[in-house]
Amino acid sequence: MPEQQCPCLTIAVAAGKGGTGKTLVSTSLAQALSTLYPGQVQFLDCDVEEPNAHLLLRPEISAQDPVTVLVPEVDLNVCTRCGRCADACQNHAIAVIRQAVVTFPELCSGCGACAYVCRAGAIREVPRQVGTVHLGRTADGLEFVAGELNVGDQKATPVTHAVKRHTRRDRLSIIDAPPGTACPMQETVDDSDFCLLVTEPTPFGLSDLRLAVETCRGLGVPCGVLVNRAGSGFDGVDEYCEAEGLPLVGRIEQDRAIAEAYSRGHGLLAARPETGDLLLAVFARIEKLIVQEVSQDD
Ligand code: SF4
Ligand code: SF4
Repeated sequence: MPEQQCPCLTIAVAAGKGGTGKTLVSTSLAQALSTLYPGQVQFLDCDVEEPNAHLLLRPEISAQDPVTVLVPEVDLNVCTRCGRCADACQNHAIAVIRQAVVTFPELCSGCGACAYVCRAGAIREVPRQVGTVHLGRTADGLEFVAGELNVGDQKATPVTHAVKRHTRRDRLSIIDAPPGTACPMQETVDDSDFCLLVTEPTPFGLSDLRLAVETCRGLGVPCGVLVNRAGSGFDGVDEYCEAEGLPLVGRIEQDRAIAEAYSRGHGLLAARPETGDLLLAVFARIEKLIVQEVSQDD
């Protein structure tokens, strides 16, 4: 039987806070979709400060690409100590102290402003590695891309961008976003066709969900909610979704077998194979919502 052509979409999976099961859902969703569209699904881990999707997907890594940014290197023999570079730096990553010019590479975003304003030509830009992109494939044919920020580095953006550059428009791409709603999450979710927000049915979960929804709306990315560990008796998430006209696309019940499997590094499909159909139904709902969104825009 000929293989079905996958819909070429990019779906980000995000959460307003850590610990909601975002990575469990994103990896399991990618695995479920891979059974439907073999060889046509890719998984991108943009949670570069704490990438852990590989623990669940266990890919074979075939290549590792360094991610570098250009940072200034000052030739003190040429430098006049004028201070223009320090004045131009928004990140306080370069300072002129008495007779020395000191740089703080971990604060530098590589914007190049200091070299631009240096009239003496004393600044040369040199590459500095801030992270790594790991490339590979899982045993069941899922293409795997994961970014890893160097320990101690604060600039996740170049690594996030390096991972996103591997997004293929002829594939169905599932992106695991960093938790929270700060810049790394926004840079990951931006440009996606849809953002699936994973939450837990608790007052804390609801509070963070509100922020995540506002962030997606601000970015102009349509979003929907998946409630993980459902069944606590807290109805606040359902009520919020209804009041906001926010699609609640799925619900995964609290299940000890899932928690135990997860603690051993196994995803939803390994713990409960029937969740594969649930996740495919979630995706079908997402596809419909994207079509609706596109037709509203036209
Ligand atoms: S702008 Fe150039 S010359 Fe002036 S302090 Fe900085 S490095 Fe030295
Ligand atoms: S490249 Fe930009 S961020 Fe880095 S030291 Fe120069 S001005 Fe500052």
